[in-house]
Amino acid sequence: MRINFLIDGRDYLIPMVIEEPSVVAAASNAAKMAREGGGFTTDFTAPIMIGQIQIVDVRNPESARFEILRNKAEIIEKANECDPVLLKLGGGCKDIEVRIIESMFGKMVVVHLLVDVRDAMGANAVNTMCEKVAPIVGRLAEGRPLLRILSNLAVYRIARAKAVFKKTAIGGEEVVDGVMKAYAFAEADPFRCATHNKGIMNGISALMIATGNDFRAVEAGAHGYAAIRGYKPLTKYEVDEKGDLVGTIEVPITAGIVGGATQVNPLAKICLKILGVKSSEELSRVAAALGLAQNFAALRALATEGIQRGHMELHARNIAIMAGAEGSEIDKVAELMVREGKIRIDYAREILSKLRGG
Ligand code: NAD
Repeated sequence: MRINFLIDGRDYLIPMVIEEPSVVAAASNAAKMAREGGGFTTDFTAPIMIGQIQIVDVRNPESARFEILRNKAEIIEKANECDPVLLKLGGGCKDIEVRIIESMFGKMVVVHLLVDVRDAMGANAVNTMCEKVAPIVGRLAEGRPLLRILSNLAVYRIARAKAVFKKTAIGGEEVVDGVMKAYAFAEADPFRCATHNKGIMNGISALMIATGNDFRAVEAGAHGYAAIRGYKPLTKYEVDEKGDLVGTIEVPITAGIVGGATQVNPLAKICLKILGVKSSEELSRVAAALGLAQNFAALRALATEGIQRGHMELHARNIAIMAGAEGSEIDKVAELMVREGKIRIDYAREILSKLRGG
């Protein structure tokens, strides 16, 4: 459970499910520092998912595109027959895009259904619509519809967050400079950028798992979005006129508070209740803030003392358990390893054997 998060003027307790305890501690610490700059402000586009229909064997792709767009209203109407619940809530298929892509088999026509999925992740709703309208678009394109499935690259479902990390709150000018250089490294190098973005997802995925959401879908969307114009960091950093660090994040979040396992898994239901979000939009805003906090925490640690000390101290209990410690022995072994600065399984075994009088 992560405390300290002030997002759009509201306090949140964020549930996280993750095997690395240091991730949770780091998020909390970063949120505390962000609080001094007023917390996180967020933004969200709309819960629009893209459903793709691939049409192959099209002789005249441009004419196919024309005919599909000309009959847009009929296609949208057909798609919306699939989900009266969504429609009643103000969602449903809102628009259509037609793309012509070059492939190893020549040109293919790809139709995108833009579907407002309201508070759901929306995969099932979108896939059903794609299957339903595929015969119509196939006929209009005079081609053969093949794949009919949503895209995880949800470019119309973007969450954004911003935070000012005051230099006085984060350790001074040197830390600001260190974080900027760490960010510049990720911006310039895909090897570093992959780890930079992984750190962001440490937070976001942990929240997705806690709330019963499809974290693989969110991961795929995030990395796909990061790669849209050459693989880049999902967060950006600047220094303002006061010398404080300003962090922003922009990431697609395809998360629901209804549908999938969110209301079926009892633990997910409890986590959503603790978080207290009222819509998928609010969940996405919180996720973006958490991703930014997580990233800032990692960059700050990396640019100062390195992440291993904090990480290993929290990991010491896991190592103690791996060495065979049980009950009260776990904390004793972990504590001694941390004190000696030797957080290793061989040393854990040595301590354990001494504790047991061996
Ligand atoms: P779902 O089909 O279980 O529920 C969504 C439905 O709930 C809507 O279609 C609507 O009819 C109804 N609903 C009731 N109240 C609503 C509200 N306030 N807002 C929106 N809908 C409301 O769930 P889903 O979100 O369509 O599908 C999610 C699941 O699909 C995830 O578990 C995911 O793993 C899975 N999935 C993912 C992929 C992928 O990511 N590529 C592909 C297939 C399936």
